Amino acid sequence: MRIYIFNYIVLSFLLGMQSCKVAQKPQEVQPLSAEAMADTPVQQAAPLPELSLYRAEATRHFILKHTKLEIALDWENQYLLGRATLELEPYFYDQSHLVLDAKNFEVHQVNLLASEDSIPLEYVYDGKSLDIILDKTYQKGQPIHIRIDYTAKPNEGNPKHDQKGLYFINPTGEIPGKPRQAWTQGETDSNSRWFPTIDEPNQKSTQEMFITVDSHFTTLSNGVLVYAKSDENGTRTDYWKMDQPHAPYLFMFAVGDFHITEDEWEDLKVDYYMEPKFAKYSRAIFGHTPEMISFFSDTLNYPFPWSKYSQIVVRDFVSGAMENTSASVFMDDLNVTSRELIDYEWDDIIAHELFHQWFGDLVTCESWANLPLNESLATYGEYLWRSHKYGMDEGDYHYMMSCTLIWLKPKIKR
Ligand SMILES: [Zn+2]
Repeated sequence: MRIYIFNYIVLSFLLGMQSCKVAQKPQEVQPLSAEAMADTPVQQAAPLPELSLYRAEATRHFILKHTKLEIALDWENQYLLGRATLELEPYFYDQSHLVLDAKNFEVHQVNLLASEDSIPLEYVYDGKSLDIILDKTYQKGQPIHIRIDYTAKPNEGNPKHDQKGLYFINPTGEIPGKPRQAWTQGETDSNSRWFPTIDEPNQKSTQEMFITVDSHFTTLSNGVLVYAKSDENGTRTDYWKMDQPHAPYLFMFAVGDFHITEDEWEDLKVDYYMEPKFAKYSRAIFGHTPEMISFFSDTLNYPFPWSKYSQIVVRDFVSGAMENTSASVFMDDLNVTSRELIDYEWDDIIAHELFHQWFGDLVTCESWANLPLNESLATYGEYLWRSHKYGMDEGDYHYMMSCTLIWLKPKIKR
């Protein structure tokens, strides 16, 4: 995610550490004489100071192996109608309960899918966690398949604005000239407001998503679009498949009237999803993306890790942008014309979200206490790109302005 001031602080810290290392002269180490060593008392290691608050990673009772979602939208009520089929396995110890994050759902049914049968399971639901009582005790190596039918109500339960998980924009079309859209925002633990999961960054799951929409809408999700099939009732179901595991907070979908501008990097699709009236500026806004992918792949000596890369601009996004795996979402400040691009381009945020595809998405922190690793590296990606594309002066200027903002901001406030 792009969080400006926070990123700048961490970037300065990292770059500051680096510059300190360069500035220091190595000191010569004098070996101790035998006499001096004999006189030196054995030092006891000082005890490590106790942390007042240690944020460990979440305890893993199960590993989430695969998530299949079949979803449709109720625009009138701003609900998501869902069926989730999850494959899980005990992580180590035997398990007779499965606890899932599922915030503000109406749970209709929970079933265990056995070889041929579907067995209804008992559960206890408190509006946040779904505690499913399994039919027996399962051991490590014994996968289970659970199917949950539910309605997600993201606006209910008094969530903070940036923690709804799923957002409906102009859902009934009452605002003239404003597009109807639905999009998701998972980081940190908000995706469990629209599908049941283990909403922790130390889980990684492959994913399938079947999204049923009115046929005029375009959809986007992680991975590749396997097919788009017209339904008998006039709707269309798009089947997106992500066959590389990734953390639940990086799952996404978006629905709306978007124009897709197609680009490519090597054999991969690189697409820009924008509102039709801004589509002709897509290449001017996002057009450096294939070159950036090459640059980062070469710099990291690790090719872009996912099966495609899409970027979408949505209305009223809750932050600057979000690096969902293979499908980054951007705020509507990027809805600009080539005239506006004369004054300002968006390479920094585009580079930031792209660098996250390696740092955050491919390599994921175990706990949110380690979020600075994600964000500082993504911000470092901005610096790398700017230095590469526009020269070291531009890179250094970007770094300097970042630092300047840190020190100026408190002064401006006073
Ligand atoms: Zn970020």
